[in-house]
Amino acid sequence: MKIAMVGTGYVGLVTGACLADFGMEVICVDKVKEKIDMLRNGEIPIYEPGLDVLVSKNVKNGFLHFTTDLKMAIKESLVIFIAVGTPPKEDGSADLSQVWEVGKAIAKEINGYKVIVNKSTVPIGTAKEMEKLIKSIKPKAKFSVVSNPEFLREGSAIKDFMEPDRIVIGVPDKKAEEIMKEVYKPLYHLEIPILITNVESAELIKYASNAFLANKISFINEIAVLCEKVGGDVLDVARGMGLDARIGPKFLQPGPGYGGSCFPKDTKALLDISIKEGYDFKILKSVIEVNEKIKERMVEKIKRGLEFNSKNKILGILGLSFKPETDDIRESVSLKIIEFFLKEKSKIKVYDPKAMENVKKIYNSLIYCKNPYEVSEGAHCLVFATEWNEFRYLDLKKIYKLMAKPVIVDLRNIYDIKKVKDLGFTYYPIGRIKEKW
Ligand code: NAD
Repeated sequence: MKIAMVGTGYVGLVTGACLADFGMEVICVDKVKEKIDMLRNGEIPIYEPGLDVLVSKNVKNGFLHFTTDLKMAIKESLVIFIAVGTPPKEDGSADLSQVWEVGKAIAKEINGYKVIVNKSTVPIGTAKEMEKLIKSIKPKAKFSVVSNPEFLREGSAIKDFMEPDRIVIGVPDKKAEEIMKEVYKPLYHLEIPILITNVESAELIKYASNAFLANKISFINEIAVLCEKVGGDVLDVARGMGLDARIGPKFLQPGPGYGGSCFPKDTKALLDISIKEGYDFKILKSVIEVNEKIKERMVEKIKRGLEFNSKNKILGILGLSFKPETDDIRESVSLKIIEFFLKEKSKIKVYDPKAMENVKKIYNSLIYCKNPYEVSEGAHCLVFATEWNEFRYLDLKKIYKLMAKPVIVDLRNIYDIKKVKDLGFTYYPIGRIKEKW
C-alpha cells in the first residue's frame, strides 16, 4: 500500500518513518525545500531521539522517500495523510490554512479513490468541511475523509507511535475503515486497542484528551501554589494523590505551566469551538487562565531571585525547549522569561542541549553558552527551566563558586532542597517550601 505523508514536521516525519518501518511505501512531502534537501542528504531537520536511525534504515530499505512534489505524491498513493501545522490564530481558533491548501491540491490531482486522513489536530467538523471542499472542486471525485488524531509526545514519539495506548480512527464508511485497519495492522496484531468511531467523535477525542491533561497540570500547579502558602510539599501531595488508582500519577508533576506546540493551542481551540457552539466551557476557560497565571508567577519567582532589581543583573537560564528530549521551543516558558527580562534590561545567559539553534533564530541579544557552568559564571540567579537529564547531577559546589549570587530558581524541582541549601544557595523550588507571597 502506498502512502503519502504531507508535512514532515514532528508528527509527519515520525509517522511516515514508522509506517515505512511497518513495511509500507511512504512518500513524505514538504513544501519547504530545505527540509526535503536535508532529509535526502540523510540529515534530520528536527531533534527526536532515534529518528535518525529509523529514517536512514527505511530510506536504505527503499520504503521511505522524500519529495516536494505534492501532485506526484497524491497521484501515486491510496492513502494521503495530512500532517501539516494547525497553529493558533490571534483569537485562539485553529488556523487551518495549511490543511485547506493540501485539500485543494488533492481535489485538483485526485486520480481514483483515495483515503484522506487528517492526522493534524483539527476542529470538529473539519473532515466534513474537507469533503465539501473537494466535492466543490471535483464533484465526481471518489474518496473518504478520515480523522486519525495523533497522540505521540515529542521526545518519545517513536515509542508512542509504535506502542500507543490506543489508536483512534473516525471513518465515514466501511471501505475507509478496512483500509485504515490495514494501515495499522502491525499494531492490531500487538493487541493495541483500536477505536473506530465517527469522524466528529475522533476529532473531539483529540481535543478532549489534551484539554483533560492540561486540566491535570493546571490543577497540580494550583495545588503547588497552595503548598507554598500552607507549607506542604507538592511532590508528596502529588504522590499521595497519584497513588489513588482513580487519579493516577501521570501529569501530576508541578512545573512552570504547560507549553509546547499542542496543549496551549488545543485548549484555546476547544474553547473557541465551545464558544462558537454557544456553550460556556467553564473548566476549560479556567485551565487556560490558570496556566497564564502560573507562568506569570514563575516570572515573579525569578524577580524575587534577582531581589526585585533585574537591570544589568545576569540571569542564567538552563533549558530552552518546552520539555526535555526535544528541540521544540513553541510556547516554551523560557521564551516568556527571556521576553520579560530582556525588557527589564537584564543580561541573559542560556544553555540548552538541543534547542539553542531554534532560539538563536529569534533572539540575537542573548549570551549563548557551551554548558551550564558557563551560564553560571557571574550569574545573579540561575533558573532551571527544563528538566534535561544532564542538569540533574551538576557540580553545585562549582556553580556556587562561579555565580555572582548563589540563587537558584528551580522550576522543575530537580534538586534536593536540603542539599542545595546546605551548600549555601538561596533556593526557590515549586510548591515545596513555605514562601510569604
Ligand atoms: P510542524 O510545524 O512541525 O510540521 C508541519 C509541516 O508541514 C512543516 O514541515 C510544514 O512545512 C509542512 N507543510 C505545511 N503546509 C504544507 C503543504 N501544503 N505541503 C507540504 N507540507 C506542508 O507541525 P507538527 O508539530 O508536526 O504538528 C502537525 C499537526 O499534528 C498539528 O496539527 C499538531 O497539532 C498535531 N500534533 C502535534 C503533536 C506534536 O507533539 N508536535 C502531537 C500530536 C498532534
